[in-house]
This record gives sequence, C-alpha cells and structure tokens, in this order.
Amino acid sequence: MVKKSLSLLALLFFGAASVQAKQKDPVDYVNTLQGTNSKHELTHGNTYPTTSLPFGMHTWTPQTGKNGDGWKYQYFKKTIRGFQQAHQCSSWTNDYCVYSFMPVTGKLTVNEDERATGFSHENEIAKPHYYKVKLDNGIVTEMAPTERGAHLRFRFPKGGPSYLVLDGYTGLSQVKVWPAERKITGYVSNNRTNKDNLIKSYFEIRFDRPFKSYGTWENRHNTIRANEQQGEGEGIGAYLQFSEGETVQAKVASSYISPEQAAVTLAAELGRSKNLEETKAAAAAIWNKHLGRILVEGGTEEEKATFYSCFFRASLFSRQFYEYDKEGKPYYFSPYDKKVHAGYMFTDTGFWDTFRAQFPLNTILYPTMHGRYMQALLDAQEQCGWLPSWSFPGEEGSMIGNHAISLLADAWVKGIRSFNPEKALKAYLHEATNKGPWGPANGRHGWKEYYALGYVPYPDYREATAKTLEYAYDDFCGYQLARQTGNTFYQTIFSRQMYNYKNVYDPGTGFMRGRKANGEWVENFDPVEWGGPFTEGNAWHWEWSVFHDVQGLINLMGGNKAFNAKLDSVFTVPNTVKVGTYGGMIHEMTEMVMADMGQYAHGNQPIQHMIYLYNYTGEPWKAQFHVRNAMNKLYNATENGYPGDEDQGQTSSWYVLSALGFYSVCPGTDQYVLGSPVFQKATITLENGKKFVIDAKNNSKDNVYIQSASLNGKPFNRNWLSYAEITNGGTLHLEMGPSPEMTRGVAEESKPFSLSKEQQSNFAK
Ligand code: CA
Repeated sequence: MVKKSLSLLALLFFGAASVQAKQKDPVDYVNTLQGTNSKHELTHGNTYPTTSLPFGMHTWTPQTGKNGDGWKYQYFKKTIRGFQQAHQCSSWTNDYCVYSFMPVTGKLTVNEDERATGFSHENEIAKPHYYKVKLDNGIVTEMAPTERGAHLRFRFPKGGPSYLVLDGYTGLSQVKVWPAERKITGYVSNNRTNKDNLIKSYFEIRFDRPFKSYGTWENRHNTIRANEQQGEGEGIGAYLQFSEGETVQAKVASSYISPEQAAVTLAAELGRSKNLEETKAAAAAIWNKHLGRILVEGGTEEEKATFYSCFFRASLFSRQFYEYDKEGKPYYFSPYDKKVHAGYMFTDTGFWDTFRAQFPLNTILYPTMHGRYMQALLDAQEQCGWLPSWSFPGEEGSMIGNHAISLLADAWVKGIRSFNPEKALKAYLHEATNKGPWGPANGRHGWKEYYALGYVPYPDYREATAKTLEYAYDDFCGYQLARQTGNTFYQTIFSRQMYNYKNVYDPGTGFMRGRKANGEWVENFDPVEWGGPFTEGNAWHWEWSVFHDVQGLINLMGGNKAFNAKLDSVFTVPNTVKVGTYGGMIHEMTEMVMADMGQYAHGNQPIQHMIYLYNYTGEPWKAQFHVRNAMNKLYNATENGYPGDEDQGQTSSWYVLSALGFYSVCPGTDQYVLGSPVFQKATITLENGKKFVIDAKNNSKDNVYIQSASLNGKPFNRNWLSYAEITNGGTLHLEMGPSPEMTRGVAEESKPFSLSKEQQSNFAK
C-alpha cells in the first residue's frame, strides 16, 4: 500500500514536471555567454558569463584569460584556467578583489598556464543561476550564486590524485588553511587599474570533504610549500588534496568589512543549503521572480532569448555594496573613506553610460532600491567630497559629465523622495564649479570658461564640445530638481546654463563643433572625424545630445523638415570613419562600420536615444521603423549578441525598454518616449503589485507601425507615457500594421517634453 501510493506520487510528480518542461521559465531563456566573443579590437559586448543574483555583490565566472587580463572569458578561447570571484564592469575597467579556484587532476599543477585545461562549449551550461562545465580531463565544475557568495562543486575523475588550487591573483593576499574545520579563510586585495582603490575582500570557504593534504603557494614563481597552513604576500594561494574520484562542494562568501562578517554572510546565505541543487534552485527562483517582473508573450523564441538575456544584463549593475550584520541590519565598508557605516551603498557603474536607460528602467522596476541609491550618492559625497560619477568601487571619474544629478532629478520627478534635495543641489553646485582630483568626470573640466563663455573651449580642453553638451543637460537636471522643490536660488543659477548647447552649434555647417576661446570655430571641420572636441564619436553622433530641449535643437537646425532630413541622413550617409585625434581605429569605429547603418553608431552611448527623436518632429513612424530594425539587426542572445560594449547594463536596458515600446530620452523628466514594441503582449509587474500591460495587436516583424493607440480604454494620441501612467498600472493598447499611419502622433500636443516649448507655453500663459 505504501509502495503503491509512493509510485502514484512519483507518477504525479513526473507528470507535472513534463507539463512544466514545455513551459520555459524566464531564466531558461537567458544565455550568459551573450556578448562574450569579444576582443580588444572588436567587441560584441565585452561581457563574461556572469553567475550571480540580481545586483549581487560578488559574481562568479570561468576564466580563460591570464590573471589580471580584462578579457577574462573569451568565447573563442580553448582552455579554462580558473573559476573566479569577479566584479568587472567591462573589459576596459578590468577588475578588483578577484581570486580563483582551479580543480586539477594527476600532478599538482599551480602555474596558471600549465593548469589551463581544454573545454568545449558543448560541455558548458551558462545560466545566471547555474554554470557547469566538463573539462576535457573529465573534471566537472559547477557554480550556483548567492548575493555575496557562491556554492561550487568539483567532481574529480578516478585515475589520479585530486587537487583544488586557490589562486591569490594579482595583488596582496592571505590564506589560512583549517584542516580540522575543513575551511580556508583569508583575503585578496587587488585592483588592476586603480591602486588608490585598493580594498580587502575577506573570504571564508567551507568544504564538505576532508583534506588529504594541503599547502600554500605563490603565483610569482609558482613555489609550493607543502603542509604550510598559512601565508600572506603577493599572489599567495593555497591548495588542497582530496580523495581520488571525489566530489567536493565548497561554499564561499566574501566581505569587505571583516573576516567575521564573511562567516556571518556564509551562514546566512548558504548555511541551510544541503547541496548545490538547493542553492541552484533558490537562485533560479530569485531570477524567475526578477525576470518575471516583465512577462513577454508572442514573438519568437529567439526574441524571448534576446529579451531575457538583455534583461539579465540590465540587472547586474550597480552592485549592492552593503552587507547584513548578525541582526540583519545593512552596513557597508565605504570605498570612499575606508570606514564602516550603517546603511546602503552601491557601486560598479559609470553614470555616463547608465543615466540614459539603466537607471530609468530601475526607477520603474525597483523604486525602493533606487531611493536607497540616491541617499547612498549623498553619503558618498559626504565621505569623499564629491558626487560619484564612475564608481569602481570607489571614485574613478572616468568619461565626462556630472550625471549623478540626472539620477537625483529623475528620482525626484518620479516621486522617489528618499533624499534631501537641497543637499543634492548643494553637492551638484560644488561639482559644477570645481574640478575634482579624479578623472574628467569628477567635477568639471573648464568650468570657469563654461560659465564665462557659455561653452568649454577647444583645444584648451579635450572633448570640449561633448562636455558642453552634457554639462548643459546636467544643468537642466539641477534646474529641474530646484524647480520641483521650489528652490529659487539654485533654479536661477542652473537656468542660466541649460541652453549652453546653443553655443557649440554652428549654423554654417549644421553641426555641433569645436569652438575656440576667442569664439571662432575650430578649422578643418569634418563631421565624420572622431575625437578632438568629441568623446568616442564624431559630429554626427553628438549632434543629438540635447536630451532636455529637442525643440530648441530643431529650431537651431531650421525646423522640423530640416531636422527630419538630418535624422534620415544619419542612416543614409556612408559609414566613413576618420580616426582624428584617436590616431587609429578604436573598436567603436569598427563596430559602426560593421553595423552598416551609415553613421548610426549604436555600439556606443552618445547616439543611442537618436531614433526616438522622430517623435518630436511629426514623423513618429520613422522611430517605429528604425527602433525595430536596430533591435532586430544589432542584438541577439548569442556570444555575438551586442553591437559594441554592453557597458554596465546600459546597452541591455536600451533593448529592454525599446522592446517594451518606449525609451527614456530625457531622464530628469518623467517621460518615456514611444517606439514600437517587439512582443504582442508584455506585462510589467510593478513593485506596488500593480500591472502595466503593453498589448500590441497584430504585432509582427512586418507590422512594426502603430496604427492607433488607447490607454486604459481611452484614445491615446501622445508619443510618450508618464512614469505615473506606467507605475499606476493599466493597459496601453496598440493596433499595429505594415505601413505607417501618418496622422497619429503628429499634433503639437503629442510631442514629448522640450524645455523651449515648455517655457514658450509658460510665457503664453
Ligand atoms: Ca561605450
């Protein structure tokens, strides 16, 4: 009887499992190898197969490149040399606080080149919640993530001794082997690009099998010290020997605060997990809940794979940099003042990339997290005297602009009120009227001239015109936050400068140009020439960087007709490159040439909002066409899945928002500008439990044009949705068709926000 009911149960169980197998979960669509077929000269994403939870503090990845190489996993490589803790934003940033494991069979081999072992992608599973590879020597490695740790499992083959090598990587490290407790503790402190940003990552690693033997080693000369229980120094690691044919599980957690905290985290995140399957299932459930916040229906399996792979990448940065103490209270080690503080901290992102779409996506899906982040920005400012611009993990100041104010203003206009706006404005004014100690995007290069002349002069300052354009936008964000909070003092200050984009527009050539301090234009202008007064682009790309006043830009360019013709030209002019001050082809140039879309360089950030500008000029159907074309042509879920650097979730967030049918052209306003959604139906579940549905009837690869629209049952003629319209829940219904509907979205009142237009109508009142 007992036996019978058991087998009935089993039948029911397997029956249910086979029904479920037909219905794929969101996480099953994700390929973490997306974008990994990248190299220095040409990138398809510069990503690595990140095994992590959403916004997890530490991630884990297989390692094909040498210790310290920013290209830590390249799809075309034939061997794996380790499985490492990673935080990298992009190959260009390299990494910090890395260490790795490598399982070895036969002879104890510690040398990273010699221990590297062949593998093939057929023997690899690469998912957010689970990574598995069977190496050519028969060793199987598996990894499942927690927020600040991972569960690893190594299955050694029979026929030779089994070793696990811990590599201390490129900087100072310490290891302590505890044979009786079956654990290793220690720390790593490495930072490839910024020695001022050196911090310690304390780790605790617990094994479920006894050590047959152990020792330490160092990776400069690969000297092994058998039976040694501890060591500290450059590249100090450890090794353990296990029984032949053993399967070994390792639970690892790391802390930036203390070794004790690493143990607390290990117990909290992995203590109850009996085996890797449990950790893996828990991670899958977390990802399915996260990715399930946007449920897409219709569309092809490939489109779903692209969508969820991009949504996964949009959900890694910025990382939580806080930990939970024994009582479950958040606290963190500040990378800014190197002290421990209560509360939340986030890091690993460059706002130059991510202010555009990644944060505006977060404000929809994770307003509570965004609110904590805004407070953390002001805390960071108190700790180091400057607002973060490129956090990795402390301030790097890379790229240009002062875009923390974009995040703060964006939060405020969307009703995220977790911070003191006056404090934010004060911090921003300081940022805008000083030059900080780190990089170009820490304070302002040329702030005095920008104030006096209304632009940053070239060649006095590198990338001066790009800086002018982004400062003017940032000043709008300052003005906006001041205005929204009734702060006339700051409103007056920033309103003086937010039209400064006009000062670098040359009506003679119809382009933004480099301008000398004496007011003259820089000679020998060629719009296809990269660099000089521009950042990673040319005049074709930077023409459009007036997010806050597209109408003002239209007026400069001679009206709608001329503006539309110029937008059209981006796609029809040849994809010629002049390398300019770069002196040679950089990968962004190669990627634009390869995309074969004229001067449309989607592989880099400056032009990523451009397609949506047709919504401001009475030709929204062109935005609908081009956005679908760009999504279709430039993205997929494979190792070649991006048209250039992915960049901390930005290029992925562009896809996620665009696939939903809208995009954040001007963060700092509450508007999302319409495009054309990929799927027949998308359901966003908001943090407040409400749902916003984008229901696109007759949508298909050919039917990319919006024929008509309604919002919550009422006719909808605008080309934008407000944040509240999305987060209050509702249904945007679109009728899609194969040809443009040229009467929809063309009225003046259909157009999205422009500062000039708004001020005009204010005067009219
Ligand atoms: Ca980029």
